[in-house]
Amino acid sequence: MNYKIAVIPGDGIGPEVIEQTRRVLEVIGEKYGYTFDFTEVLAGGCAIDATGQCLPEETVEICKASDAVLLGAVGGPKWDHLPGAERPEMALLGLRGKLGLFANLRPAMLFEELADACPLKPELVSGGLDIVVVRELTGGIYFGEKGIKETDKGTAAYDVEEYSEMEVRRIARVAFDMAMKRNRKVTSVDKANVLESSRLWRRIVNEVAQDYPEVELNHFYVDNAAMQLVRGPKQFDVIVTSNIFGDILSDEASQVTGSIGMLPSASLATGNFGMYEPVHGSAPDIAGTDTANPMATILSAAMMLRYTFGLLEAADDIEAAVQKVLADGWRTADIAKPGEAVIGTKECGDRIVEAIRG
Ligand code: NAD
Repeated sequence: MNYKIAVIPGDGIGPEVIEQTRRVLEVIGEKYGYTFDFTEVLAGGCAIDATGQCLPEETVEICKASDAVLLGAVGGPKWDHLPGAERPEMALLGLRGKLGLFANLRPAMLFEELADACPLKPELVSGGLDIVVVRELTGGIYFGEKGIKETDKGTAAYDVEEYSEMEVRRIARVAFDMAMKRNRKVTSVDKANVLESSRLWRRIVNEVAQDYPEVELNHFYVDNAAMQLVRGPKQFDVIVTSNIFGDILSDEASQVTGSIGMLPSASLATGNFGMYEPVHGSAPDIAGTDTANPMATILSAAMMLRYTFGLLEAADDIEAAVQKVLADGWRTADIAKPGEAVIGTKECGDRIVEAIRG
């Protein structure tokens, strides 16, 4: 079995964490008899330097011709003087649009070994935490009609929250399909007591739920969901919500896990195609120092195996290896407690590779 992966190392620590992730995928390939064909392409600041564009057409073509995309991070102070539309981060928006990535998956997984890093009381997260926020990524208020107008109360500005049945149905399906592979519970988050778009959202989610009788569905208003995430996070399995609510709730959910260096993410299109990347940015403050934590990117690769390639055992294997490395006491600087010994990016990769080899 041969899988084509477009790899975008990007800027800052991107190339460092991607290098370790490729090693992990190679050893997984050896162990299970798969080959991963990596094609490295440019996006972000390095692409601006090389081609004048943050997202060259060649990159988009190679991504489209691949089974999945693995991305490090883009951006950095070198390009901060550029106007908004020309900045490296625009490559991310371009990739989402051109690759049709409508579903953003952000797991908030708290490894028991890192429970100290969690800002919540230990009894709220005992036994670890495993939530996925499924955020609609290409609709809603961020993409709705917007404008500025003059009124008798002065200048007014507006952004329209609009969702179609099709958009709600396809993101709901992603959430229910995911719940079927997990603990069979979906929480849909809206503001149906106030917003018409939320009432449509709720109606369509209820319709989709009919096709998944094994999945328990409940609905929360977004204000309650924000509260419950810090009051009783273990009650959640899969949370599905709109673009703007998901933007906020996924950050909130991820913070309960402690370190940004541990957080993977996936953005999916129809047909299992996906782009996988860590939640963190290019961390220019530590780039080139061999101190970045590669685990977020390595866990993103595990998501790629699970959601795009359907290689569940191999995905579990990577996650178990990360957990073993943590259980054995190895820590990169971002997750170490004061006074604890730390390992670098490369050594962290070595330990995970060793744990997979067994
Ligand atoms: P950042 O996530 O890069 O860094 C925030 C802090 O977390 C820094 O102190 C950094 O050292 C630390 N950190 C991040 N990842 C880490 C890791 N793997 N291991 C250890 N420590 C880690 O966010 P920022 O500083 O706001 O942004 C830096 C640049 O990255 C900016 O140009 C920003 O636009 C860009 N950015 C890119 C993406 C992306 O490519 N998806 C996302 C966010 C920010």
